[in-house]
Amino acid sequence: MPSLSLELNTRLAALRQQGLYRELRRVDSAQGTRICAAGQEWLNFSANDYLGLAGHPAVRAAAMDAVAQFGVGSGASRLVCGSLAPFHELEAALAAFKGTEAALTFATGYAAAAGTLGALLNRSDILILDKLVHACIVDAARASGATLRVFDHNDLDDLEQILVWADAKRSAAAADKPNLLVVTESIFSMDGDAAPLREMVALKERYGAWLMVDEAHGTGLYGPHGGGLAAALGVSEQIEIQMGTLGKALGASGGFICGSQELVDYLVNRARSFIFSTAPLPAAAAAAGAALQVVQSPEGATRRQALFDRVAEFSVGLARLRRLGQGPAMANPAPTPSAILPYIIGEESAALAAAQALRDQSIFIPAIRYPTVARGQARLRITLTADHTASEVEQLLAALAELP
Ligand SMILES: *Cc1c(COP(=O)(O)O)cnc(C)c1O
Repeated sequence: MPSLSLELNTRLAALRQQGLYRELRRVDSAQGTRICAAGQEWLNFSANDYLGLAGHPAVRAAAMDAVAQFGVGSGASRLVCGSLAPFHELEAALAAFKGTEAALTFATGYAAAAGTLGALLNRSDILILDKLVHACIVDAARASGATLRVFDHNDLDDLEQILVWADAKRSAAAADKPNLLVVTESIFSMDGDAAPLREMVALKERYGAWLMVDEAHGTGLYGPHGGGLAAALGVSEQIEIQMGTLGKALGASGGFICGSQELVDYLVNRARSFIFSTAPLPAAAAAAGAALQVVQSPEGATRRQALFDRVAEFSVGLARLRRLGQGPAMANPAPTPSAILPYIIGEESAALAAAQALRDQSIFIPAIRYPTVARGQARLRITLTADHTASEVEQLLAALAELP
């Protein structure tokens, strides 16, 4: 048997050879549109801090106040003695924000998906996923033991065919009738496009399925108060399970589930990632609570406007470059603009080369490759935030125009 190091060296060499090797880049500053790394300043277009709240004064102050009052660690899991006041306050605020009876927070969005799907489903159930849902949902789905079916991305006809099949299977079952759960994202993490939530709600109601929507990239950004895409489309009440993360537009860290009181009570009793894990830092919950207040305030609306102004400027600039035969071909973000603007390159090594070419111009956008996206679908995942300026967007466009 080879030594572990020898074995891993062989595997790492294979990753390098396929252009799939990943490495950490140390950042020496706070998160923001300009970050310091490797002794220089970079213009950052890769953060999920879409509203610029990770460094917001009110959010920082809330975290520091919570440290002063509650210390750093939570001391135990929520069900032992770690259910500190900031978690309860945040959960009440999240439920009000999403218009649900209740909410439950987790250490991460990843843990929220794992705990929820694992608690709700068993081997006799049927789980129906959009082909492009996030890895945390795929992992949770596999671990749940439910029968998995995948529909083509945002394809309502394909979804309906699977629902017809699942409904028939349920009718035929003598005992252990399967529950049907459909899971999608509202704004897709690597493509930035939107799910047809209204139509999906109509379908799941027609076939008696439940719906879970992961609003990791919608929360804070859509609707009059930033409630998310479901709120903007007026379908929140028909979605049984609303998932999100506190680590993106809310600028903190953690994950959450919003829904009925029964859902939350059940998760407290059955979600293993919630039960068997130390409660997160109370300061993170306090920070997320402060961010939620900013999101729902007039300042939140101003920040959303700034973000979507930058997105519009980027789209106009890209169209201008295309007319000159210069810019990359990128999907048009309309009809639902989002902060995520993928420039799909394809070949893993070509995406790495493009990321390096941008780094040569002090622009920070790492290449996103398999297994985050499918093989041969490598891309630069460009993200804009409310704190970017119009001239920074111009700088990005100029750099993109130079790419080979
Ligand atoms: C980031 C992300 C998650 C995971 O959330 P974390 O809080 O980062 O663990 C879940 N779903 C989607 C779509 C995401 O983009």
